[in-house]
Amino acid sequence: MLIHPPVAKPSEPPPGIPALLGSLDSDIPAIDANLQGLIYLIKHNPQDDGPQALRIWSQRNNNIMQLRNGSAFKSIDHYNRIISEIERVLASGHAAKVGLADYIDARANPISSTDLLAEAENPENNAFHDYYIDELLPEIERYAPAWIGLSINFISQALPAFALIGLVKSRWPHIKLIIGGGLITSWMALPSWNNPFGALVDMCIDGPGEERLAKNLGINPNNTNPPDYQQFPLQHYLSPMPVLPYATSRGCLWHRCRFCPETAENNSYTALPFAQIRDELNILTNYHNPGMIHFVDSALSPRLAADLSKNPPGTPWYGYFRFEQVLKDLDFCLELKKSGCIMVKLGLESGSQNVLDAMDKGICIEKAGIILNNLHKAGIATFVYLLFGTPVENDSDAMLTLKFVRKHHHAITFINSAIFLMPHHSPWKKTVECIPFSHGDLSLYTNFEHPLGWDRKKVRHFLDRIWKRDPAVAAILRRTPKVFTSNHAPFFVLN
Ligand code: SF4
Repeated sequence: MLIHPPVAKPSEPPPGIPALLGSLDSDIPAIDANLQGLIYLIKHNPQDDGPQALRIWSQRNNNIMQLRNGSAFKSIDHYNRIISEIERVLASGHAAKVGLADYIDARANPISSTDLLAEAENPENNAFHDYYIDELLPEIERYAPAWIGLSINFISQALPAFALIGLVKSRWPHIKLIIGGGLITSWMALPSWNNPFGALVDMCIDGPGEERLAKNLGINPNNTNPPDYQQFPLQHYLSPMPVLPYATSRGCLWHRCRFCPETAENNSYTALPFAQIRDELNILTNYHNPGMIHFVDSALSPRLAADLSKNPPGTPWYGYFRFEQVLKDLDFCLELKKSGCIMVKLGLESGSQNVLDAMDKGICIEKAGIILNNLHKAGIATFVYLLFGTPVENDSDAMLTLKFVRKHHHAITFINSAIFLMPHHSPWKKTVECIPFSHGDLSLYTNFEHPLGWDRKKVRHFLDRIWKRDPAVAAILRRTPKVFTSNHAPFFVLN
């Protein structure tokens, strides 16, 4: 049995488990406990005191319905109000603060193996405990699996996943437990990794799990099968149309950016043949009739984009691109638009050429401006990611980023601006003095003495006082959806 534990954005099915189910080609039951658990909490959490809390609580089913029928997306203010109200209901009644993309418990640190083991020991402390007891454990009992695999990709899943592990282990000690997914892969790549979960979990899997799971089950994986979404209720996610996440590749085709875990963890890049992608998309869209395809690759290759232009999947789609040379051609962007591309996510990171070069981003800032304009002219929305406070940036560089956004604000539809965290594996780590970032043996990041004096405090001050107050930036930030961010942005574009 495969389980996707809470909490992760419940806007679409997780891509990992359907990919496993497809390649294992076997009747393995799968449950999206994230979607089920969040809906359970929204329905069952007690109401806070006060008339406003009563109004919000009584609106909770209607708010969910509005996200599903699309009426939540009629304006960004209306949408933000609905998201805040749902989050307020989710956060009520528990010591832990549950959100639609967050799980924060002041009593337990999700990057401390001691705290995770304690969560398994005391699962009643977890906000999802009642959901597990009332709904998930009876389902597990019904299937009576010999083993359970948990796909843990985000830090927000760690504490709820370990609470579930504790419950399963105490009720059915004979069931073998396997953990895998993006977060487990990153933990296992830590130089200090020395499996602290050995007494509780039977196997930790890093990277794609097909081969090892298949071996465990005594079957041959079939990597030519499409992902299998049949056990995921596409209509029930918190999106106005069924969204199909689909990966054409693993790893990153560029694989060089110095701040990126893809580079730091040295993950290899593999891509499916175009003919297989076409066939799989054809099968999946015919079967599921999605309203949107979400390409979940780290970056779509230019050759694949050209192939999608010639062979449109017949459904609107969006995904990550690099600032590739092909996008400098307006005709190419127009073809992309015709193929159904409605939004492109782009990691620009900085408006300073010096910073881009030091990051090894492979981006020419002048070219990036032309590309944004081309995409805008073609009618393709852009979701631009920016990163402040890298060891190679100073305050003047940050001002260059601001200048770039001011100049191209008409062609930037949405923005995500983040503060840099140094991965333990980063090649930059050797060049700076590191300061522990958090007290947890599973922390993936370290704090550091900024070599140019551009530390987190100064970066935060810049973001709060200059960046967010700039009229051009503020207008883009205002229309960027909260919490679900790029997962819900395409629905505003469609509107
Ligand atoms: S292009 Fe994106 S995923 Fe690839 S190495 Fe750079 S930041 Fe990482």
